[in-house]
Amino acid sequence: MLIFEYKLDGSRAQYAAMDEAIRVVQFIRNKCLRLWMDERGGQGISKNDLQCYCAVLAKAYPFATHLNSQARQASADRAWFAISRFYDNCKHHKPGKKGYPKFQHDNRSVEYKQTGWKLEPDGKHITFTDGCDIGCLRLAGNPKQKIAAFPLEQIKRVRIVHRADGYYVQFGVEAERAIVHQPTGKQVGIDVGLKAYYTDSEGNTVDNPRHYRKAEQKLKRLQRGLSRKQKKSANRKKARKQLARAHLHVQRQREDFARKTASTLVSSHDVIAYEDVQIRNMVRNHHLAKSIHDAGWGTFISWVKAYGRMHNVPVLAVAPHFTSQECSACSAIVKKSLSVRTHICPSCGVVLDRDHNAALNILAKARACTLGHRETSSSSSEEENASGQTASTRTPKRATSKRAG
Ligand SMILES: [Zn+2]
Repeated sequence: MLIFEYKLDGSRAQYAAMDEAIRVVQFIRNKCLRLWMDERGGQGISKNDLQCYCAVLAKAYPFATHLNSQARQASADRAWFAISRFYDNCKHHKPGKKGYPKFQHDNRSVEYKQTGWKLEPDGKHITFTDGCDIGCLRLAGNPKQKIAAFPLEQIKRVRIVHRADGYYVQFGVEAERAIVHQPTGKQVGIDVGLKAYYTDSEGNTVDNPRHYRKAEQKLKRLQRGLSRKQKKSANRKKARKQLARAHLHVQRQREDFARKTASTLVSSHDVIAYEDVQIRNMVRNHHLAKSIHDAGWGTFISWVKAYGRMHNVPVLAVAPHFTSQECSACSAIVKKSLSVRTHICPSCGVVLDRDHNAALNILAKARACTLGHRETSSSSSEEENASGQTASTRTPKRATSKRAG
């Protein structure tokens, strides 16, 4: 699935209509969740039951019928997504919180499937044809990006997203972007670290951009300003918007860096191995937390996988045990704490940068192939990440709490 995004240009009334559609989505999602909760923990509720419940809701609440029926069903699917993720986490005994589904208060998007909208013949306007009265909006953005060039049946979903700086539409197109990969004969292991964005098995490093720290002073100032404003005042609203925009800016910079770095990495190698660290576990260490989120490794790895698929370059995940402790030359275990930056092996005398040593081990592990597995699975959440949606639809509030761990 490829995602094409445009900013939407419309009138105030149209923006309000989009807000209303977004509210209906949240209403249906929460109602479905309520149904599941009320049915004794929802043991007997299936995805299909929620779909049927949509029709019941539409009858009971006239405002819900305004929204296109497929968009209503997509809202029920969101509730089901939250429920099934919770079940999965329980079933696989995921460590930590299981993510019991929560009612949503800050929904920012509405998703249409293949009905309820049409592209205008000029390819520069989209009209929403359901009862929400959104009407015809201009597609603003990159003129080289031509959504109208795709056959209509390949456009599987159309999503309106409200961000801090306006309304956007994303077209999900069922097509593969295949890139002819020029073989380079190079295999590489990468270690994502704190000192550098990543270190590869050749000893090259990519520096950390640290966008967040640079922007942090500004964010802090805006945050302070916001908390000084009186509750519910117009000035507070203004300050909140400013803060949200600043967060959005940082997110975009980070996403952009991750995407470009991943593209460069994949196009210059034939095999890529990385360590499958549980980032969430690492974030518990509060001294490291900020740097970890700053680097945005999760996003980076998602992009590496996405580009790997495009280039048909294998991206291998290896288990994270002992990659930094083992000696890459003689396999002796050399214990060291996080603050020790150099690997010095007492058995064979090799001296390497800590991350370089780890990257060599990661590559060796992938080559041995016993622990590594080819990363061909593409779960829905990964795809979301790869298309940059999770990151960009994230609200600023959540971005802050994530940073705090
Ligand atoms: Zn050694």
